[in-house]
Amino acid sequence: MYDFIIIGAGIVGMSTAMQLLERFPGKKVVVLEKEASVACHQTGHNSGVIHAGVYYTPGSLKARFCLEGNRDTKRFCDENAIAYQSCGKLLVATNELEMTRMQALWQRTEANGLERYWLSGAELKEREPNIVGLGGIFVPSSGIVSYRQVTQAMAKRFTEAGGEIRFNTQVTGLKESAQDIRVETGSGDLAGRYLLSCSGLMADRVVRMLGLQPDFRICPFRGEYYLLPPKHNQIVNHLIYPIPDPNMPFLGVHLTRMIDGTVTVGPNAVLAFKREGYRKTDFSLADSLATLGYGGIRKVLRDNLKPGLKELRNSLFKGGYLKEVQKYCPSVGKDDLLPYPAGVRAQAVSKDGKLVDDFLFVRTPRTINVCNAPSPAATSALPIGRHIIQEAISQFQLA
Ligand SMILES: Cc1cc2nc3c(=O)[nH]c(=O)nc-3n(C[C@H](O)[C@H](O)[C@H](O)COP(=O)(O)OP(=O)(O)OC[C@H]3O[C@@H](n4cnc5c(N)ncnc54)[C@H](O)[C@@H]3O)c2cc1C
Repeated sequence: MYDFIIIGAGIVGMSTAMQLLERFPGKKVVVLEKEASVACHQTGHNSGVIHAGVYYTPGSLKARFCLEGNRDTKRFCDENAIAYQSCGKLLVATNELEMTRMQALWQRTEANGLERYWLSGAELKEREPNIVGLGGIFVPSSGIVSYRQVTQAMAKRFTEAGGEIRFNTQVTGLKESAQDIRVETGSGDLAGRYLLSCSGLMADRVVRMLGLQPDFRICPFRGEYYLLPPKHNQIVNHLIYPIPDPNMPFLGVHLTRMIDGTVTVGPNAVLAFKREGYRKTDFSLADSLATLGYGGIRKVLRDNLKPGLKELRNSLFKGGYLKEVQKYCPSVGKDDLLPYPAGVRAQAVSKDGKLVDDFLFVRTPRTINVCNAPSPAATSALPIGRHIIQEAISQFQLA
């Protein structure tokens, strides 16, 4: 009998597993992962940004965990010899509307306790000769890292502390009783005292295995990128972000310096027809029916028809995508947009058609299920893991 069974070897699952054994050395903990290694899904397909916490609602878990996570991630990298850079982020306003929105963002960054600097157009030019804009906000604490490497280091520390990871092990059924939780997998059944699910794109399906009817559904949104050619590796000195529409802060492609020295453009956000579908052509009938048959997502699509269609058009035609970048970086041309692997976001959507904004946890007597861990959950993985353990201690009355 295991003390804890954890589903998912993404960064949230591995952070939780590692810190669980640090808090309770000697407990029997296993991580079950359906893929052959850690970080195969969202964790291994993202922008690699250590976010500072610019946009999030002050006082939300997102805002709190991001601020803590920024510091914790850098400390973890220092302790584990993982390369990262605190290159800072520039939010660039390119017109008067964005200048007004920038003012609101400035106040939000103050409420979130961030160090930041207001830049005039001339100061912006000085910092970033290839970027054009009327002004900007500079946030020095934003950084870059490979979250795959961070997760690998967490897995190493977890297994060195006696933890077990079973790869190629898909959880297919769950039975909770007063005594324990039984976990069915393609390669045999296991029993544990408690279960922590960190299953990303499959979070709602895991909750259903527990017999619950969740009032949300995970909807997959593909984030597509382009890679700039090596001649552009020095095109920017910082991470460059547009000033977002406050109603849709996750939209707007950015220029990202990657930790391997390259620069990417993206990501956009298009509804995917397969939960783990990384190519435009990937299609699953079951996933599509589950998504499009859900009233919540249909309402999201109706309410956001115009930006949704724009994202779709920019996904299909490079020209539209390019325009988004050229708004603030005119020297990037069409031929500079080279193919790069996409990622798929697990976005919880409520029955009444809202994109769930904050982290979401669903509990049963013996389980805690992470059901919405969108960006910046890679940055925030260490505090999220600590939070889950604190919740487990009080909910399961652990000594
Ligand atoms: C395009 C994109 C860009 C992003 N950029 C950033 C960024 O720059 N900075 C940032 O902080 N965050 C970013 N994020 C968000 C971040 O990547 C995710 O929030 C984070 O990785 C979530 O981690 P996770 O462990 O919850 O999920 P995942 O990494 O998806 O891991 C879940 C794991 O559970 C496993 N699993 C699922 N079901 C089962 C089952 N039944 N049995 C066994 N195993 C199962 C899966 O195989 C998977 O490995 C981005 C996300 C995307 C998609």
